[in-house]
Amino acid sequence: MVLIACMAAAFVVAWQSFAPAALKLDDPDVGMLPPASPPASMSISSLPTGTYETMAALTFRGGAWSETRHLAMTAVLIRHPKGNLLVDAGAGTHVDAHVLTLPAMQRTPYRRGTPAIAQLAALGMKASDLAGVIPTHSHWDHISGVQDLQNVPVLISDQAKRFIASDAEDSKLLRSFPNIQFKEYAFDGGPYLGFPRSHDVWGDGSVVIVPAPGHTPDSVVVFITLPSAKRFALLGDLVFQMEGIDRPAEKPWMMRRLIGEQDSEVRHNIALIRAAREKYPQITAIPAHDGRAFDAIPVAPFALQ
Ligand SMILES: [Zn+2]
Repeated sequence: MVLIACMAAAFVVAWQSFAPAALKLDDPDVGMLPPASPPASMSISSLPTGTYETMAALTFRGGAWSETRHLAMTAVLIRHPKGNLLVDAGAGTHVDAHVLTLPAMQRTPYRRGTPAIAQLAALGMKASDLAGVIPTHSHWDHISGVQDLQNVPVLISDQAKRFIASDAEDSKLLRSFPNIQFKEYAFDGGPYLGFPRSHDVWGDGSVVIVPAPGHTPDSVVVFITLPSAKRFALLGDLVFQMEGIDRPAEKPWMMRRLIGEQDSEVRHNIALIRAAREKYPQITAIPAHDGRAFDAIPVAPFALQ
């Protein structure tokens, strides 16, 4: 009887963790808008590589159980005269095999699109035309396409290097790829929009990576500044959908525990992005899996400058 009561109580607690709830965030100071001088020819395009289905209720607190969300798996191509970059690589040629490496309960229906490597080919680009790929973190749905990008350096921080080298389940797929060439960078720059450290990839402020741990220890946010002065914050999985930032709403408690998130870090980083966006409206925040947010970045061959 006690066991049944405990199980019922646990079920109620778990169920309530999906309900809408006010998310109290701190009000951080994001400081001055960091300077940037992007070259005139710089541009960005999105490369949608597929989607996977999940219920809205599993992506943010207050999402409907009856609503299916098609989570984007999209790479962002940055064309820059010093070197072209991809942020995330989406679903690759071998995505079917990659999905099979997941525990059964984590697999959801997915739709294959065109892998990034094929979309690059359609643009007349080869893998060797990329200076690097920047994973927002090493979960399968962000790095599946890395396997197709032979000899393209995978740019990772020292934290990410440790995480990938560990026996963490989350980074197992990336670790399993043969012939991966990791290129380590340091967060050697100062604070950036409230994030404590930063790495300016090309030294002109156009592509700046900041550590944003919480979803995983190796999570980063990539800030992009275009010649038009438009700015983007590619959030990775800090939130799964825009509601995470806009409402704001965190992921349901049960999802956070399954993922192993650090709640206080995620909340602080959500607060920073909200504060940065409020103070500097030229910043558009894009969660990696929100297809609606990606409407702001044209699909290749179209590009935004
Ligand atoms: Zn993801």
